[in-house]
Amino acid sequence: MVAFIRALYILVLVGILAGIVVLFWKMEHKRPTVSFNEFLVSLENNEVAAVRFKGGNIVMVDNFGREFTTYSPDVPSLVPRLLEKNVVVRGESEQPSPVWNLLGVVIPVLLVMTAWYFLASRQIRKDEAEEVDKEKKFRFAPSTTTITFRDVAGVPEAKEELIEIIDFLQKPKKYSKLGAIIPRGILFQGPPGTGKTLLAKAIAGEAGVPFYSMSGSDFVEMFVGVGASRVRDLFREAKKNTPCIIFIDEIDAVGGHRAAGGSSSGQDERGQTLNALLVEMDGFASDETIIILAATNRPDILDPALLRPGRFDRQINILPPDVKGRLEILKVHSRRVPLGKDVDLENIARGTPGFTGAELASLVNEAAIIAGRTNKKNIESTDFEIAKDRILMGIERKGMVINEKDRRTMAYHEAGHAVLARFLPETDPLHKISIIPRGRALGHTQQLPMQDRHSYSREYLLSRITILLGGRAAEEVALAQQTTGAEDDFQQAVQIATRMVCRWGMDSEIGPLSYAREEGGFLGEQMAGGVYSEETARLIDSRVKKLIGECYDHAREILTREIDFLRELADMLLLNESLDKEEVEIIYECTTRKRTGRQEDGGPVPNRKALENTI
Ligand code: ADP
Ligand code: ZN
Repeated sequence: MVAFIRALYILVLVGILAGIVVLFWKMEHKRPTVSFNEFLVSLENNEVAAVRFKGGNIVMVDNFGREFTTYSPDVPSLVPRLLEKNVVVRGESEQPSPVWNLLGVVIPVLLVMTAWYFLASRQIRKDEAEEVDKEKKFRFAPSTTTITFRDVAGVPEAKEELIEIIDFLQKPKKYSKLGAIIPRGILFQGPPGTGKTLLAKAIAGEAGVPFYSMSGSDFVEMFVGVGASRVRDLFREAKKNTPCIIFIDEIDAVGGHRAAGGSSSGQDERGQTLNALLVEMDGFASDETIIILAATNRPDILDPALLRPGRFDRQINILPPDVKGRLEILKVHSRRVPLGKDVDLENIARGTPGFTGAELASLVNEAAIIAGRTNKKNIESTDFEIAKDRILMGIERKGMVINEKDRRTMAYHEAGHAVLARFLPETDPLHKISIIPRGRALGHTQQLPMQDRHSYSREYLLSRITILLGGRAAEEVALAQQTTGAEDDFQQAVQIATRMVCRWGMDSEIGPLSYAREEGGFLGEQMAGGVYSEETARLIDSRVKKLIGECYDHAREILTREIDFLRELADMLLLNESLDKEEVEIIYECTTRKRTGRQEDGGPVPNRKALENTI
């Protein structure tokens, strides 16, 4: 479009220029004028060789071939005199010849058209060149990947969710005919090295579609406006090649909260780039089969605008693998290396808690290098040991290694949440419990969203608070200790309790009233004092405290009763690192059988348990 307007602009300029040139040319060739008297004098002096009449105008040609014009008031009377002087006389019609007329129109038009054609074709060539240039510079050319799901291990749930996406990329028509709206954006959240990029590539590989990728951090150091235009370039390229996948790594670099710091020009740039991204994501036609995958390890700082429906409304958590996952990943990476007979991958998997996929990949590679240096034909167990120590040193520096005591505390803490979730009514279904260390930022992302648009029952909220407190309660009941691990749990519990009392009218003393307390940042807090009295504030505090206290007692009570189940669950967690809801149920069955020696049916229906992975 811009190129077209530019061409038009040049065209108009050339037209004007051509007009001016023609005008000057005509003026240049205008003959000098002489007076009629001078003409008569020249005639008398035999200086006139020929004349041409054109109406009353006379063109006089002198002996040197020069032409002059003059005007005669009475041409016919002049003729005898001219003939007498042997002057060649020619008459011309008053109208300029039609050929000249035509040429006068055609030539400028031809000129303009040629100029336009020339310029336009140059412009097109330039555009093409620019595009090629850009592709080279920014690598927006798609890549085809040969990576498939076979290469990604230890993330079974993520894979399961993504199978649908692959089918959609392969047969978009099938879905559009049914009127299905396909997710546009999927956000992978998880710590570095857990295989987010790998998974994105595997989707492209499985579906056999082009893979466009870019990283959010590419924009951080750029001038204002460059990032935005690159986003547009990327989408323009991608649209030429649908169906396809666009992968944006480190999306938090552009999509980070405006408040997340940085210089103001950096903010501008980020804001513009983010806006461009949002505009592009909203601007697809429905027949454009483009799936945008993004990865981040800071979902907590993402601008909420990115997570709105129609954008990255699907989020997939990718956590570091548990024992089983690590074994699978080790198998994938040792497919192409010769393993010695003494190598027991399962053992290695057990001995590498907290390792990510990337770390396991480099474990296998390091081991191969170590074996190679000592000229071995196969990688042996000792090579893995040395390699592990090396990688552990790196991880230790990052502060990701946890000691046995801490693991035990974590196991009881998490088991405490899970046991309560197993017995309390009105809760969310349990997904998975795990004691695999996670990045700090991951902790509270998919937490129960306490937003007004949902409605929760009093019973649900009480259960929720009790489950949250269950971590600390379990530590006390089973280990007789208190640790800092419960801080986030307490914060959430207090938040829910406060809202129950102040906003949702769920407290018998306060009654069905809503006080705008603890709402929205510093302004809200300042205003809070004006909304209710000091006395009310004290009452609210005491009611919140009472609510929490009751829930805590309830938690301790259940955990004391179910101490065998709690211990068994914690032990299994220490062994397996993560348990899903079926496994929890099996452990429960086993402990009750052990205790009573028969099948007992106590407690609510088995699958009504809850525990968010993150508490
Ligand atoms: P992220 O994008 O989450 O930071 P990557 O996808 O870049 O992590 O992972 C880096 C490398 O680690 C991959 O190329 C792969 O070799 C290995 N890797 C990571 N996760 C897995 C996994 N789940 N299965 C197999 N290999 C993995
Ligand atoms: Zn907890």
